[in-house]
Amino acid sequence: MATVADVTVHEGHWIGGERISSPADFDDVSPIDGQVIARVARGGAEEAAAAVSAAERAFPAWSRTTREERARLLHAIADGVEKRLERLAIVETTDNGALLRSHLRGVMPRVAHNFRFFADWLLRLGRDDFETRGHRNHVSWDPAGVCALITPWNAPLMLATWKIAPALAAGNTVVLKPAEWSPLTASLLADITAEAGLPDGVFNVVQGYGEEVGAPLVADPRVRRISFTGSVPTARHIAAAAAPNLTPLSLELGGKSPLIVFADADLDLAVDLAVEQYDNAGQVCLAGTRLLVQEEISAEFTERFLARAAALRQGDPRDLATDIGPQIHAEHFARIDGFVRRAVEAGATPLIGGGPNTDLGGLYYRPTLFTGVAADSEIVNEEVFGPVLTLQTFRTEEQAVEMANSTEFGLAATLVTGSPESAGRVAARLVAGTVWVNCFFVRDLRAPFGGARQSGMGREGGDWSFDFYCDVKNTVFAPGGWNG
Ligand code: NAD
Repeated sequence: MATVADVTVHEGHWIGGERISSPADFDDVSPIDGQVIARVARGGAEEAAAAVSAAERAFPAWSRTTREERARLLHAIADGVEKRLERLAIVETTDNGALLRSHLRGVMPRVAHNFRFFADWLLRLGRDDFETRGHRNHVSWDPAGVCALITPWNAPLMLATWKIAPALAAGNTVVLKPAEWSPLTASLLADITAEAGLPDGVFNVVQGYGEEVGAPLVADPRVRRISFTGSVPTARHIAAAAAPNLTPLSLELGGKSPLIVFADADLDLAVDLAVEQYDNAGQVCLAGTRLLVQEEISAEFTERFLARAAALRQGDPRDLATDIGPQIHAEHFARIDGFVRRAVEAGATPLIGGGPNTDLGGLYYRPTLFTGVAADSEIVNEEVFGPVLTLQTFRTEEQAVEMANSTEFGLAATLVTGSPESAGRVAARLVAGTVWVNCFFVRDLRAPFGGARQSGMGREGGDWSFDFYCDVKNTVFAPGGWNG
């Protein structure tokens, strides 16, 4: 057990309702100050198999519980999250360096909401029966079995519960593999599910490195669904591992989203939205990291943007006044710096930032904006996943659409415009799972979420989640007596 910011956290796996250790551990390091905050169990094939076995054993009874019972338990988990909101927030911040302010005000309340939303949606789930020549077609959403859920470190509990809640609501059992750079809140969630009364084995957590414990988990033929959020290269490994078993996959991957500012836009709003792209130190899949600005306003936009960006307060994420915290890990920090150095070598000009924050040291990277970037350059086309934006200008709407759609990604796009007609025309032509017009990051669990192109496969949210996590079945009753 570790004590992190005065909160006790189990460092073991959670399998079949028991804490299990492994022969080896790994150091969990806080990005805030480089301190080792926990020594977490380093799982492998054995632990992955044990967790799937536990989930498989728990499945028959759990899948037969009534919808009302499952909904009740999900609400009880949400109650547990709300009860521990501050503790979850401070542990997450200590573990992954994201702002405590965001965890307290936005993220952890949304974690509870994830459970409540899918509990309530479950109770409404169902489409009306329909008739074919007197026969009755009855559609049902049958639980699929054991679900392997693999999640990243940038919003650990938020993204995990967005999968766990619908998977459990659907009557499945779950094995969660959280990211090794932020493993702790998954462990706290295990305590919460136990306290809520979730039967043993319905929810399991295996800890460790992706290649060691994640890979055997997703290759296990007993797993009926794999839901993954993370990077494109890992998705390729997972898809290859899933292929022999034809395990259905949901993939939520990276992005290189455009934020398009038209000349008739409200410039204050445009600047606000652009600066918001540094949130979570730029470690947001949906971030609009490519600022595409119409030529005639680009000078004024840039001036105002630079003034706003310069006023951002960088520092300890536990300080509620901080705007930008550290990057997650030294390895990731070096990766970001590599992108920035290569961009400079390729001729790009940093208008702000362009390197580590040497005043703060550690893993603090200065918010950076590049101009003079070539359309085919790495910095314009590859996901940096750090506080690094590029600025390009366009002349016409046609050109804006062409530039917006020019990468291999298609996760999201943001338009800032004064013209509803132009918004409609442009939004219709963008390749993206989500388009925001004069807003950013407005998310509703009723809406489909996912990416086009290399940004993902499938959609989650509302019915889309249940369609993925269930074997949707049509039963046809012959006429005569049974057709209600
Ligand atoms: P990553 O792909 O390195 O790791 C994600 C998870 O996969 C981790 O838990 C890791 O341990 C596991 N993993 C690694 N190799 C594996 C393997 N062979 N088999 C099974 N599991 C394996 O991603 P990351 O660095 O943690 O996260 C950042 C990426 O996630 C970025 O590309 C970001 O855009 C993306 N992301 C996407 C969304 C979305 O909703 N589309 C949300 C957040 C983050």
